[in-house]
Amino acid sequence: MQGYITNINKARDEDLIITIITANKQYTTYRFYGARHSTINLGYKIDFELQHSYKSQIPQLRSVLHLAKKWNTEHQRMYVWQQFIKFFYIHLRDIENIEKFYFELLEECYEKWSEQNPKRVAIESYIKLLEFEGRLHDDFICFECEKKIEKDVSLLRAFLPAHKECIYTNSFNLPNLRELFVNKSTLFFNDEEMELLWQILCEGF
Ligand SMILES: [Zn+2]
Repeated sequence: MQGYITNINKARDEDLIITIITANKQYTTYRFYGARHSTINLGYKIDFELQHSYKSQIPQLRSVLHLAKKWNTEHQRMYVWQQFIKFFYIHLRDIENIEKFYFELLEECYEKWSEQNPKRVAIESYIKLLEFEGRLHDDFICFECEKKIEKDVSLLRAFLPAHKECIYTNSFNLPNLRELFVNKSTLFFNDEEMELLWQILCEGF
């Protein structure tokens, strides 16, 4: 089975509780401490097996193989990936059966993560996620006053649009944001704006 490690918690001793997202399930697994184990890390894509036992509700994680990409060793790129994947864990917490959309989205990101500024991949993917969940407000109606936004758009958490004058925060040009919401492209945003969008994403899914 293949999946992405979205969370690692320390259990007693050096044992670990590891959460993995696969195509249609989210698994909480247990790994006993052992020197013979391969190294694992948050964000790794792995091939693995689960061993169920009558003694525990949590299956044991076995035969782990890291399905590595070259960029996994690039510190900054990996760090952004780990931040991003952690939001999936928080967002899907306690849901066992998940739609395969989430795994497929991670697959797409994992492939594209090395191509460019990974924050662009993250934001474009996050917009797809919002759309999939029916939470993408591409009508550009202000969240605060409920009137149409004609030019500068400010974004709240989960990319909720509002007038710049209504929430007094950073703002973006409407056509650029429309390009992002409709075509899932960050092409028209410069790196400074990308950083702002990333900060908004980091407020939480
Ligand atoms: Zn408004």
